[in-house]
Amino acid sequence: MPLLRSIKGRLLLWIFLSMTVLFAGLGYALHFKLHYAVDDSLDKMLHANLQFVKGLIHTHDGKNIECESDEFIQGDYVIPDSGHYYKVFIGESLLSVSSSLLDPDFNLTPGEPLSHDPKMQEWLYQLTGPNDEPLRSIRHEFNYMDQPVRIVVAEEISASLRMVDQLTSYFLLITPVMISLIAVISLIIAEFSLRPVQHFSAALEGISHKNLEARIPADRQAKELRRLADKFNSLLERLQRAFEAEKNLLGDAAHELKTPLAVIKAECDIALQRERSAADHAASLRNVRNVVKGMLFQINSLLTLTRLASGLLDASSFARTSFTDCVEDATVLAEPLARKKNIALSVSLSEDMTVLGDEDSLTEAVLNLVENAVKYNHPGGFVAVRLTRRDGMAALTVSDTGIGIAEEDKERIFDRFYRAASARSSQEGSGLGLSIVQAVARTHGGAIMVEGQPGGGSSFTLTLPLAEEAA
Ligand code: ADP
Repeated sequence: MPLLRSIKGRLLLWIFLSMTVLFAGLGYALHFKLHYAVDDSLDKMLHANLQFVKGLIHTHDGKNIECESDEFIQGDYVIPDSGHYYKVFIGESLLSVSSSLLDPDFNLTPGEPLSHDPKMQEWLYQLTGPNDEPLRSIRHEFNYMDQPVRIVVAEEISASLRMVDQLTSYFLLITPVMISLIAVISLIIAEFSLRPVQHFSAALEGISHKNLEARIPADRQAKELRRLADKFNSLLERLQRAFEAEKNLLGDAAHELKTPLAVIKAECDIALQRERSAADHAASLRNVRNVVKGMLFQINSLLTLTRLASGLLDASSFARTSFTDCVEDATVLAEPLARKKNIALSVSLSEDMTVLGDEDSLTEAVLNLVENAVKYNHPGGFVAVRLTRRDGMAALTVSDTGIGIAEEDKERIFDRFYRAASARSSQEGSGLGLSIVQAVARTHGGAIMVEGQPGGGSSFTLTLPLAEEAA
């Protein structure tokens, strides 16, 4: 149902239903209350009339019971068919009847009574009168001078019934008007209440992949929507980061892979230029293979960086991880390279240190640091890996006796693809290792620092918050 799909429609329907139930209930209650009130006042009148008629009964001689004649009574009881009647019986014989009742035999207490009050000896009736008028009558029995006396008084109730019916029909008439009025007011209220949502969605509509840096002004939203705006803004933040990381990856990949691809093309061109021996072809293929290997390494590193930069790896996916184990695993992986380069590797792990993080990326970061220390070292050199606790943080220091780092390079070596001049010529590398280390450190709430002098070796320190401290 399309109406139920909109908030406005639902609001309207709920208001309509609740108002209908409320008005129906109110009408029902009012009708009964009115009836009760009218019946009550009629009964009071009947009682007053009963007392009046009772007062007409008297005796002159102390033996015979009499009732005042018509000359004494005035008003409705003497007007024929006035709808106001009484009858007085002594035993079963009729003593007196109001002259308003033209047929003295007309029964004013027919059938079952509406109610009976045994204490007062009263019976209440509702009947149709001699002129088809609705009547309410009361019968009262008592003893007068040891004789059973019965008085019946009756009153026409058509005016009262008409009044109740009229009021009820007024109410029934006014109900749909009121409900329609309330529906219109609710519609206006709903329109006004939903305006902030419309503003919110207008602000949201203005944001696309072209302006992901735009934000929804949370302080200008209605109080209830501010949290939603904050949530949307942080979602946009993450989207923007992921989008930019992907854009940068594409740009960097295209730029950096251009050179090795040109090398492959040149190698192929040379190989195809003229007739060459099988050994020459094999040499060309080996060159191509080496370049492709480097490209693959670069692509993997770029993917890792993108994963870190886009926020795909965040605290929500972290688990308690032994950083000591990560360091141990990384040094085991770096050992063959160290052996090959004739570098001595010393590892000192004082205690088990637990951090909240991602085991694979932590191991990769440590491996990058240790491999660099081996790569940028002199044959016969030394690499020391030390894990200690410092100011409530896990501090991993990787120091080497290698070529060292110039002061001006210390800031830039963490940039993507940056390689110091001393490294560019001799050592193989992608220029992405330290960017990965820095990204891993940042995502884990830690930091990476470098010390060293050209020719005097270097020392990298990676600090990470310990799980106990972070908890
Ligand atoms: P890559 O090692 O692939 O070139 P990195 O991002 O790991 O890329 O390092 C960036 C640059 O920082 C290196 O090219 C090198 O110039 C310098 N560097 C890194 N580690 C060391 C080190 N232990 N000693 C001296 N220079 C280093």
